[in-house]
Amino acid sequence: MAQQAGDRTLSVLSEESQRIDGRDARSMNLTAAQAMGEAVRTTLGPRGMDKMLVDSTGDTVVTNDGVTILDEMEVEHPAANMVVEVAQSQEQEVGDGTTSAVIFTGALLEAAEDLLERDVHPTTIAAGFEQAGEHVPDILDASAIDLDVDDVETLEAIASTAMTGKGSESEKEHLTTLVVDAIQTAVRDDGTVERDAVSITSFPGGNLADSRLVEGVTIDKNPAHDAMPTDFEDADVLVYEGEIEVPELETSTETRVSDFEEVTEYLDQEQAAIQEDVEAVLEAGADVLVTEGGIDDPAQELLAEADVMALRRVDDEDRRRLAEATGANRVSDLEAATTDDLGQVGSVDCERIRMPLWRGSARAERITAFTGVERVAGTIVLRGGTEHVVDEVERALEDSLDVLAAAIEDNEILPGAGAVETELALALEDAADGIGGREQLAVEAFAEAMDVSPRTLAENAGHSPIDALVDLRARHHDGERTVGIDAETGDLIDAAGDGIVEPRRVKETAIDAAIEAARTILRIDDVVSAGDLSTAGDDGAGM
Ligand code: ADP
Ligand code: MG
Repeated sequence: MAQQAGDRTLSVLSEESQRIDGRDARSMNLTAAQAMGEAVRTTLGPRGMDKMLVDSTGDTVVTNDGVTILDEMEVEHPAANMVVEVAQSQEQEVGDGTTSAVIFTGALLEAAEDLLERDVHPTTIAAGFEQAGEHVPDILDASAIDLDVDDVETLEAIASTAMTGKGSESEKEHLTTLVVDAIQTAVRDDGTVERDAVSITSFPGGNLADSRLVEGVTIDKNPAHDAMPTDFEDADVLVYEGEIEVPELETSTETRVSDFEEVTEYLDQEQAAIQEDVEAVLEAGADVLVTEGGIDDPAQELLAEADVMALRRVDDEDRRRLAEATGANRVSDLEAATTDDLGQVGSVDCERIRMPLWRGSARAERITAFTGVERVAGTIVLRGGTEHVVDEVERALEDSLDVLAAAIEDNEILPGAGAVETELALALEDAADGIGGREQLAVEAFAEAMDVSPRTLAENAGHSPIDALVDLRARHHDGERTVGIDAETGDLIDAAGDGIVEPRRVKETAIDAAIEAARTILRIDDVVSAGDLSTAGDDGAGM
């Protein structure tokens, strides 16, 4: 069947495939990738706008978060997709600076396009960008400020800079205190931060101001049975990776009367098995039982009679956190469970959180908090507004937590508000002077591309970037390394003094990723696609 002439399997390229090479390929890629930068530009900084994204099923997200925007855009163009990957890897490695990374990439490619028009060879541009990148660490060294882990004020400044513009403005102080307290529960003796020890659980409704930190772990469940205890002091916790349930008996219409005895016997055996499971829990000495699967009614009653609190159908992540925080082993064979497998908690409390629904009705969401745990952990219980609001604030808090973890581990921060980018621009211009030939042009263009941050911050504040940039450069020339753009007023400010600071890792990773993506895209001179590229972006063409 694959033998006919013209069959797709016989030709090198399919009928629908398309090939673009040389200048056209490069220019198409540069345009597509720069479009990504344009797409997120207006969201940069505290005065950045939000975007509303509606997916094919009608679900809506309102966000200011670079990586969320690009993820939701369902980008199809291969080169544009490389830029989306820049944002994703930035999100994974640092958790913040995704918009900046994409904007840097766009700016570098814009600079590259200019150079190509002046007949600079793409390889030369790529090499120049690489050279410029080699100077970056030294330039950042000069601007870096040491961070002391106990300096709460600076930690709050870092958190606050990271959550800027993401729906948290009304309760910013409260929320920054929360995330700083939360991350401090996860700082270990060796100076590392166990980021996974901190999590956020959100409940729409109520007020952002009602959000709070539980120094421990919460599970979004209440006890399985009403007669179970709801509070404990000094409790022992058993985490069971299983269920206490009778499997559904497979009965068929053909079950004959003579089988009844067998069925009854089977049921008795199962009842006995449930009883044994419960006894195993009691023998191990558990006050609280947390299970992966369900717990049948008879077992619930037996546990309640024995004053054991049981939470069933608890998801994997919650069981992991509870086990880690309390020192419990995750038991998969109840019969083999012993006291050694139990974890310890200082106190257990069940609560109900009121969640407003339509037209004044409400439903109660249940949570159980485990505090006073061996390995300290923090859970932020986030409240406030509609689901869209809570989602956006949750993203902002996650960013802040990531950024705090990076700052504490690296002990180094940089002045934000475009200050460090201006330093980079000036220092790289100087560095370019020492480089001969056409690569010098590429390093100069790179230097100029760094201005994109302060320029965009000024633009998003509604100010003419031209005057601001001239003044900004002049002040940096005079050695004022920490001067940046006040995104509210467009005036020049001392970013460090005003608490607009970011971990070094955010900027360094963003710039590295941008250079890498720009070089990759520049080196491509041939695009062979299985589909039509002219409509890429709204069809399924991918490479
Ligand atoms: P990203 O996804 O890159 O983190 P953001 O929208 O969070 O994008 O914007 C980050 C940029 O905004 C950084 O360059 C940061 O220094 C700057 N910034 C944050 N807060 C302020 C502020 N109050 N004034 C000026 N610039 C700010
Ligand atoms: Mg940010």
